Amino acid sequence: MTYKSMPKVELHTHLEGCAPPAFIRGLAQEKSIDISGIFNADGTYAYRDFNHFLEVYEAACTTLQGPEDFYRLTKAVLEESASHGIVYQETFVSPDFCGGGDVTAWREYLAAMQTAADEADRDLGITLKGVVTVIRHFGPEASKPTATCAVETFGDFITGFGMAGGEMVGRPGDYAYAFDMAREAGMPLTCHAGEWGGPSMVAETLRDLKVDLIGHGIGAIEDSNLVRQIVESGVTLEVCPGSNVFLKANVFGKGLERWGDHPIQKLRDAGVKVTVSTDDPPFFGTTMTDEFNMLAQTFDWTEDDFRTLNQTALDAAFCDADTRATVAKRLETE
Ligand SMILES: [Zn+2]
Repeated sequence: MTYKSMPKVELHTHLEGCAPPAFIRGLAQEKSIDISGIFNADGTYAYRDFNHFLEVYEAACTTLQGPEDFYRLTKAVLEESASHGIVYQETFVSPDFCGGGDVTAWREYLAAMQTAADEADRDLGITLKGVVTVIRHFGPEASKPTATCAVETFGDFITGFGMAGGEMVGRPGDYAYAFDMAREAGMPLTCHAGEWGGPSMVAETLRDLKVDLIGHGIGAIEDSNLVRQIVESGVTLEVCPGSNVFLKANVFGKGLERWGDHPIQKLRDAGVKVTVSTDDPPFFGTTMTDEFNMLAQTFDWTEDDFRTLNQTALDAAFCDADTRATVAKRLETE
């Protein structure tokens, strides 16, 4: 069977990273920007490794030049997501790519994204919420105006704060100022850790940034005490198996190559709250349907397992109670 039509909750996506390649190519043509080098002959995104992926990602982002482009991007992304049964999605959005960290410009970009999100909610039955995201490899100083943008716009559409980008740049504590600002404003927190940096990066992220969710977090599997700590603290992991296998994320000091070696099953068996997401689906050749199908094939997950997965994700979602109730109904009706 295929899980395409089953309703799904997805917490870990990057808005620009969900951009269909054809959409980015179209924008590049309209604006006469030559980014032909970032595509393979078959039209998919082309890159060698994780750092090159970040470069290609940023090159793709150069085509997104104003609020109207982000309106169109959000619309294109949500159409794709809805076609895979997603009824609730959270996505990382970055003021660094939307107005260069200026709050006034950021508000205009957000309004455009929210208009597209409202239309998709009405027309497609998918709710989108945004999580303002620090780009780690831009450095700790750049994280402060990002946190200001987050705090100033925390509300209906913006529901949380987090950090993505190059995990091996600096240590989590270097970004504590920005996370403290967001926490003091009442924002729930997430941070990428343990995709490349192993258990110590996960442990420091929990200790120094006091997050509610961890993006990936799979490196925790190397340390059973840390796994126990995660279980006891109730922190939820945003696991992205397809992304991890595609990029060969670091587990036990080597690159993850096969779905069967992915630690999601062991983490779940240990009692960790796991959720499943696509991260940057067209970059990694995946969709939520593929993720569900591969988990069913690899670990024999059943419809019941996927229902639990959806509920865990909805419980951990950063949205308000009304949205949570609406999404719960959408999950029940199938
Ligand atoms: Zn990510």
